[in-house]
Amino acid sequence: SLRIGVLALQGGFIEHVNMIRSLGAQCQELRSSAQIKQYKPHGLILPGGESTAMAIIASNDPELFPLIKDLVHKEGVSVYGTCAGCIMLSDNVEKQKQGGQTLIGGLDLTISRNYFGRQINSFETVLKLKIGGEDHGEVVDFPGIFIRAPAILSVNNPEIKILGEFQHVKKDKTTETIITGVSYKNMVTTVFHPELTNDNRFHKYFIDIVKRNVK
Ligand code: GLN
Repeated sequence: SLRIGVLALQGGFIEHVNMIRSLGAQCQELRSSAQIKQYKPHGLILPGGESTAMAIIASNDPELFPLIKDLVHKEGVSVYGTCAGCIMLSDNVEKQKQGGQTLIGGLDLTISRNYFGRQINSFETVLKLKIGGEDHGEVVDFPGIFIRAPAILSVNNPEIKILGEFQHVKKDKTTETIITGVSYKNMVTTVFHPELTNDNRFHKYFIDIVKRNVK
């Protein structure tokens, strides 16, 4: 059966493990390059947490990020980045907010960390997401949990599929449309946290992408 690994350096990895297992795939927490090589995941989840902290922990294992880059960009292993994981897969993190963390990259989009403000500005809403139906072209309502979330401000490659958008009303009452998730080849991201809901449709969507990309 399919093997999904969840990078478990820091952050919210347990919830992803539980959700993937509820869908009948194998799933393991992975903490080092050695564990990844041994487990040989077909799909990898980069969870939410603190992207700066993750990068610091990862630097103890200098092979780790290069290995993940190889798997994702050369071997075609599918990857799903949630929130901090989405930041790690982005090519352009708004400079003043990057915090200098090492990134994995691959998605040519611009992302802004902590876009909605601090912890107290975390919120829940209902999102429209294009992940429904057999071909994942249908829009469904999906619970959106945002925790010190980043926002995708633009995608710079027209081949990146936008899964959903959200109208954010700012303090000065103007609105800005932000992108809540994208999909491109073997890469998927969301700035919100489906693993914290009891709705496993997003993880099902990811598993379908993993299956499609298994050689
Ligand atoms: N604020 C975090 C970061 O910048 C992301 C928050 C999250 O993953 N819930 O890395």
